[in-house]
Amino acid sequence: MEALYKEIAAVLKEAKPCVALTGAGISAESGIPTFRSKGGLWEKYDPMVYASIEVFRQDPSKYWLIRGEFIRDYDRYQPNAGHYALAALEEMGVLRHLITQNIDGLHKKAGSRQVTEIHGSLREINCLSCGRQYLAPDIPAGDPPCCECGGVLKPNTVLFGEQLPPEALETACREASTCKSMLVIGTAAVVQPAASLPSLAKQNGAVIIEVNPEKAFPDADYCITEKAGTALPLIVDHIMMNT
Ligand SMILES: [Zn+2]
Repeated sequence: MEALYKEIAAVLKEAKPCVALTGAGISAESGIPTFRSKGGLWEKYDPMVYASIEVFRQDPSKYWLIRGEFIRDYDRYQPNAGHYALAALEEMGVLRHLITQNIDGLHKKAGSRQVTEIHGSLREINCLSCGRQYLAPDIPAGDPPCCECGGVLKPNTVLFGEQLPPEALETACREASTCKSMLVIGTAAVVQPAASLPSLAKQNGAVIIEVNPEKAFPDADYCITEKAGTALPLIVDHIMMNT
């Protein structure tokens, strides 16, 4: 294991810039409830009803029913060592950009700056009338909560039936196709468009480094079968050790 970390640290120092792609695995370590897993939210609430844009337009309280608690309790959820290690890699000039499938906003909370949240973020809540933005957990009272102007509040996430924001997609593809190394963390990336990003990077000559408790990418050049919160701080340590 030690030798593997050393080798990966050397690769990351050499193959710059690096881009990271993260998924639910890294958030699970912060206690974020997952949706697709057994016992997850989608077993109880049909996402096509509770998280579709069509239903939201008719009755936003359904979406607030499944997301309101998370947003009001937002401070309960803190970034973990994996999130902080990624922020450190950016600070060190190793990581140029981070693409995440997660909507919990924890990468930004951990201090990462160049972040593309391809499915949006529950941390940011917008008024559909006046455009005012609220940051979780500081939202008006009410069920569903309304803006001070009386407008409907919508968390800044991509609902079922909505297109992914084109700028986010464009950025993700540009970052993936121009990086020299890609860290794929806590995701099996089976859901598009994230699924195609590692192959896009690889086609353009990037080294793929996977960090997953169970290997999911046959194409990865390196794989650390470990949790992000354990593996990423060790990678940071090894990079610092051999500078
Ligand atoms: Zn408003």
